[in-house]
Amino acid sequence: MSDKKGFTTTILHSDRLLKPEFGALHQPVHTAVTWGYDDVQGLVNVFQNKAKGYAYSRQGNPTVTALEHKVTQMEEGMATVAFSTGMAAITATILALLKNNDHIIASSYLFGNSRSIMQTFMDIGIDITFVDATDVVNIINARQENTKMVFVETIANPATQVADLPAIGDFCAEGGLIFVIDNTMTSPYLFKPVTVKASLVINSLTKYIGGHGNALGGSVTDTGLFNWKSFGNIAPIIREQIRPEMQGLTQIRKRGLRDGGGTLSPEAAHSISVGAETIALRLDRACSNAMMLAKYLDAHDKVSHVYYPGLEAHPQHGLSTGIFYRYGGLMSFALKDGIDCFSFLNELKLVIKSSNLGDTRTLAIPVAHTIFFELGAERRAEMGIPDSMIRLSVGIEDPEDLLADFEEALKNV
Ligand SMILES: *Cc1c(COP(=O)(O)O)cnc(C)c1O
Repeated sequence: MSDKKGFTTTILHSDRLLKPEFGALHQPVHTAVTWGYDDVQGLVNVFQNKAKGYAYSRQGNPTVTALEHKVTQMEEGMATVAFSTGMAAITATILALLKNNDHIIASSYLFGNSRSIMQTFMDIGIDITFVDATDVVNIINARQENTKMVFVETIANPATQVADLPAIGDFCAEGGLIFVIDNTMTSPYLFKPVTVKASLVINSLTKYIGGHGNALGGSVTDTGLFNWKSFGNIAPIIREQIRPEMQGLTQIRKRGLRDGGGTLSPEAAHSISVGAETIALRLDRACSNAMMLAKYLDAHDKVSHVYYPGLEAHPQHGLSTGIFYRYGGLMSFALKDGIDCFSFLNELKLVIKSSNLGDTRTLAIPVAHTIFFELGAERRAEMGIPDSMIRLSVGIEDPEDLLADFEEALKNV
């Protein structure tokens, strides 16, 4: 089977084609922490990057490798490194590639913990400018002589702003900047960042790829488009030993994963890998449920605003239609003044009051009081987050049941 197959077929047969023992259809869970070699030269060759193999599970494990291969195929990238969480992947990527006084241009609408870790990077001497990434002009204007990287998400959480991805990709490609896209909200099923010239793609595997709220994981995929030969921060030993296209990801694996230690466990890798088999089916259902709820809420007289790129009134609806396969499973809405969002949430019986997103179940959370609480009222106002905003991660329940839960709760508030 060398010819290219469809998205789901490729995932389903990915493990088997790596030929696990006994014709197993899944890559087994390899729990060994270390690997033994009959001839010591074999071990030495692995250490010196002269042969492929495993030495110590912090930086490589066959179960994790099989998942990395699957993510690479989903993203149509060149290679992937997996991590214990999405945040570990982001932290390791930036620490492995950038130095004191290097400059990042980042979206001002980042996931809360990503925004927070950026502050930590600023505290240790990385220069960061936050801009409204829905317009490439803001990115162009923020460029400095020391700019090395542009970091954006696809659809922002919770207010669903969509970054100007094709234009930012062109700008980064022309200027030789590392273009990092956090693809968590769309996943490779809805969007492949390689199509807009991304250099590196981050995924929180915890969300749509694993998909069942039962395992944490993260990844970074190199699309193969960035010219690492011209990147000044590659360590001399990596420059000497590794072919140019793999130098960036090798530095992330060694300095970020091996030295940083945010390793994905083989048990979690296995859960995520099995979850990934059904991502297309799950997301098709979640996206159609989200579209249904967005239209329903948008027309409701107790709702003041719905944030969902699938609605025609969304500021980036046209862009989203052009680049995403569907509009995603995440949406937010605000209730009209005078309606208490806590009372409304407590009236929901099926929808779970919970953090997380990309679960099979529909989850709702009041944004200002939880995930954006630490930012404070002023930053929330700047980011366009009203106090009554509710974020929904729409699941795959039967649409009639979801609709009935919302109808009943809105009637009762
Ligand atoms: C959840 C999330 C992360 C972090 O992923 P974890 O696996 O929870 O660490 C990063 N980026 C985005 C956009 C996310 O939604």
